[in-house]
Amino acid sequence: MDPLEILKELVAIPSVNPMGRDIAGPEYLETRLSEHLIAFFRSLGVDCQKIEVLPGRANVIARLDRPGTATTVLLDAHQDTVPVEGMTIEPFEAAVRDGKLYGRGACDVKGGMAAMLAAFARLATERPAGRANVIMSCTCDEESTALGAKALAKSWSGPAQPGSLISAPPTLAVVAEPTELNIVVAHRGAVRWKLRTRGRSCHSSRPQEGVNAIYRMAEVLSCLQRFADELPRMVKPHPLCGSPTISVGRISGGISVNTVPDECTIEIDRRVVPGEDPQAVIPQVTTYLRERLDVDFEMLPPWLDGATLSDENNGPWADRLMTHIAAVAGGREKQGAWYGTNASRLAVTGVPAIVFGPGSIRQAHTADEWIEIGELRQASEIYYRFCANA
Ligand SMILES: [Zn+2]
Repeated sequence: MDPLEILKELVAIPSVNPMGRDIAGPEYLETRLSEHLIAFFRSLGVDCQKIEVLPGRANVIARLDRPGTATTVLLDAHQDTVPVEGMTIEPFEAAVRDGKLYGRGACDVKGGMAAMLAAFARLATERPAGRANVIMSCTCDEESTALGAKALAKSWSGPAQPGSLISAPPTLAVVAEPTELNIVVAHRGAVRWKLRTRGRSCHSSRPQEGVNAIYRMAEVLSCLQRFADELPRMVKPHPLCGSPTISVGRISGGISVNTVPDECTIEIDRRVVPGEDPQAVIPQVTTYLRERLDVDFEMLPPWLDGATLSDENNGPWADRLMTHIAAVAGGREKQGAWYGTNASRLAVTGVPAIVFGPGSIRQAHTADEWIEIGELRQASEIYYRFCANA
């Protein structure tokens, strides 16, 4: 089965993540792609199931066992894509030109998914003698809050789920993301939360009678900027992921220019490196600000929890995958990444996880997203060889 033909079908079925917006339409959610994947696995005659995570949004799991083997490899690729606004190509046409396939998700990460599906189909057909048990998970909602990967991890780390195809942790997880056939063995995580200042509103013609929440926030912001400068010296850098960072990305406050604002809110993005405790991040910022400011502020609960991928226990598996990469595609390297992936969600349960796939992160989420077909086929061959000899 050619991964290119599989990829054309995947790109032609929109599965746009609404990214937290209250928005509906034929291109949104993974619903139709999940149906397509179930039909794909049924046609192979393997065990498969759809597990709903949110209304219309499901993880699709398939499993191919070899009695007598202890090793279970989980291959994971996410079904959702980022939105298509601003794209300069037809997002769902899956056009092929000059050795590339164009379309939303071609690179992130339907290319990786197609390469995995083709390898899985070949394993199911050829059933090579030395293969591992292989679980393929097609997860939902990676691009927003990773609810699919969190639900997947619960299938072996949470309470028993009757009828689940996965009850024990896999030996290893390989997560598809566009790594240009390199292996990402470590990456940073993100903690995101809101900070709010309050004041007292009044007519702007007599501002002395109120308290301006935006002025209060201005003091917080200049202190946060100093914190951002000092942060790299406060935390030991990770050899592959570098130093942690903090950035303020949004601000809102005030209702009109002639009213002294009683509230101002900012959104903060703090990148955590492996080895840091994500839970300590907000208290650290709170203490820093309180020691330097005489301004009241309030931290709201984070909506991203800062899970990182550490290279502490995935080295031997990365080395083994690297021998197959070298044989198929030549020299590549182990890397750290600045972006986050599902691998961190699976690794928190103690399962060694690595990230590997075709395509470049530079083409992910772009206006003319594409993937090189040659690399797509190489990735599929590498997934196959890895699972066939695990
Ligand atoms: Zn992705």
